[in-house]
Order: sequence, then C-alpha cells, then structure tokens
Amino acid sequence: MLDISPAFANLGTETAFEVLARANALKAAGKDIINLGIGQPDFKTPPHVVEAAAKALRDGHHGYTPANGIPELREAVVRDLHRRYGVTVDPGLVLIVPGGKVTMFFAIMMFGRPGVEIMYPNPGFPIYESTIRFSGATAVPIPLLEDKAFAFSADDVLSRITPKTRLIIINSPANPTGGVVPVIELEKLAAGLERHPNVAIMSDEIYGQLTYDNHKHATMLRFEHLRDRLILLDGWSKTYAMTGWRLGFGVWPKELFPIAEKLAINDHSCVNAAAQWAGIAALDGPQDAVHTMQRAFAERRKIVVDGLNKLPGWRCVSPGGAFYAFPNISGTGLDSKTMQTKLLEQANIATIAGTSFGAYGEGFLRLSYAADKRDIERALERIANLKV
Ligand code: PLP
Repeated sequence: MLDISPAFANLGTETAFEVLARANALKAAGKDIINLGIGQPDFKTPPHVVEAAAKALRDGHHGYTPANGIPELREAVVRDLHRRYGVTVDPGLVLIVPGGKVTMFFAIMMFGRPGVEIMYPNPGFPIYESTIRFSGATAVPIPLLEDKAFAFSADDVLSRITPKTRLIIINSPANPTGGVVPVIELEKLAAGLERHPNVAIMSDEIYGQLTYDNHKHATMLRFEHLRDRLILLDGWSKTYAMTGWRLGFGVWPKELFPIAEKLAINDHSCVNAAAQWAGIAALDGPQDAVHTMQRAFAERRKIVVDGLNKLPGWRCVSPGGAFYAFPNISGTGLDSKTMQTKLLEQANIATIAGTSFGAYGEGFLRLSYAADKRDIERALERIANLKV
C-alpha cells in the first residue's frame, strides 16, 4: 500500500475538463455534440501572435529563460497595465507563469495552512476552493447571489473577516456567473481593508477585458494603499484566445515576490520561451482581435440570455462580463447535476452543473457562449425540446 499524503483527499478538480472528455468521447462515437461546457474562446489566436512564436523558434529562442520571465515581456505587461488602467507597476514585481491558474496556486499555498481561513467566491472558479482545502486552510465562501446579479457587496465580505483570515480571493468579471462588481463596492472594500492590515487580497482579473453594456471593469491595482498585500492575477488565455499556450502573469507585493519566484523555480523553471515572445506580440500589437471577440461575445450573450429566459422553468440574469450565462433552472424541478447529465446524454449539449462551482451553485447551470452563434441557437432549440 503506497502511503500518499492525506492532503490529496482534499484536492478537488475542475469538472469542465471531465465534461470535455465525455463530450469528446461522444463526438468520436458520432454524436453531434454542441460544446457549451469548457470556458475558452472559439476563436483562434491572432495570426501575428502565432507568427511571433514561430519567429522566436526560428530565431533560436530554445533555452531556459529567467524564471520570472523575459524582461521584454515583463516590460510589455507593465505597458499594457498602464495603457488599460493608467497604473504604474514595477516590472520587477511581474511574474510570468504558465497560465493564470499558477498565480492562484502560489498565492493560496503561501497563505493556506490548518487553522487559518481563506475567503473565496462561491459559486466561483472551482480551483479556489479545491486548493484552499488542499492547503489545509478553512475555505470561507463569499456567497454570490442571483438577486445581486452575482456581485458581492463590500460590507458582506468585510463582515466575514475574522482574526484567522489571511487571504481574500475576488474575481470580477466572474466565472461562472458573469457577475461584475461595481467600482463603488471595490472602493468600499479597499477602504474597509485598511482596518485589516494583515489580510492579503488576490484579485483574479483574467476576464478584465470582457465586459458588456454599461458594466466596467476596475482593477484592484488602482488602490495604491493595498499594493503591499495585493496579488493581481491576469493572463492571455481568455483575452487573446490563448488557453492552450499556457501563459499568464501575476503582479506581486514586494514581500511576496521572492517567494513566488522561488516557487516558480521549484515548480516549472520558466515559461516556454516561444510563448513568451508571442505574449509580447499580443500585448504590443493591434488589439482588433480582442475587440472582434468582445463584440461577438456581446451578440451571442444576448441570444443566449433571451433564449434561456423564454424556456419554461428557466430564468437568466444578463451577465455583465466574461462569456458565461448562469441560468437558474430550479423551476424545471431538476437539480444542477441531473440537468447537466440530461443535456449531455439526451440533447448532446455539454454544459456544467452550477454545483461544480461550489454549493451555492445548486439550481444553476453554466453555459459558455464563447461558441459558434449557430451552435448556440441550435442548443437553445434542443433545450426547448428536451423532455424533463
Ligand atoms: N481564473 C478564472 C476565473 C478562470 O475562469 C480561469 C480559467 O478558466 C483561470 C483563472 C485560469 O486561466 P488559465 O487557463 O490561464 O490558467
């Protein structure tokens, strides 16, 4: 009998990958599967970005890079943050990592241990809760509610802080709900955190460039007084359709940066060199592809939300950002998991049960509208014809 660390009993997973595997198996067996499960743009990476990676390989960028990323890319990140938000960031505090997830894992590992609490959004990206539990810390949910359009209130978050709180994770625009937290609430949160100087914040802003209507994304970097305890998570996956490239970045407080860098050296040495050169082209090059995708998602969002709201037993808040609809299906009489299974096995539509994102996701389903418009329309027709 192998004596594996008991911590692994607490490690969760991301159901999206399991659903993707099942959807692909059904597809291989000849089923006409519509995939609204996995959260990734259905667009290709812009050609000039692909070319930059190919050129990097041709130019001989085949070796290890500095563990924190090539200086040219860290400088490009600083320029990008300045362009987007008007904030100034020290390139020495930017850590290039293989995907947004890595920043999250490092931050949670830095603070998590038995006896402390880490707050996280629920429903939220499943890896938050999984990794918090893995670390031994107590996972304290910030419930995100439909009647608040899935945005948290600062007072609610602040009221959950205890002497054991070490880290608060926030995510706006959010996965899986599409919720966008109004800037006034972020300001209130930032002000309230002045009373809790030992609490760190990780702000997951990976969907920061995907907002709709009058919803606007505001970065936590704007709060200078939090910079010594703010970890910013961002990356290329969603904005530039680069999920498979595995490229992300964190902006770390001075005190934490050397620990994060050491973790990077222990974990992966550095990020794939060609991907880093592609990252520069993405940030410094034309942003047309970003705007094209944003417009396409905005159009599909309307189709999916309008369509879902016409279905008996379904209702769907219009998501302010990201590319997910998170309808309430409780009126159908089915629970989330049963609906997910029924849709996949009977209607050939891959979706994700709300409970995959935490206990507060019961009664909801996540549909990604980063999918072909015609496929979204066909999916809505199939759902309307589903025998519940
Ligand atoms: N954060 C959120 C909220 C996400 O939804 C995702 C991916 O789905 C990530 C982080 C991870 O992104 P990456 O694929 O770059 O690791």
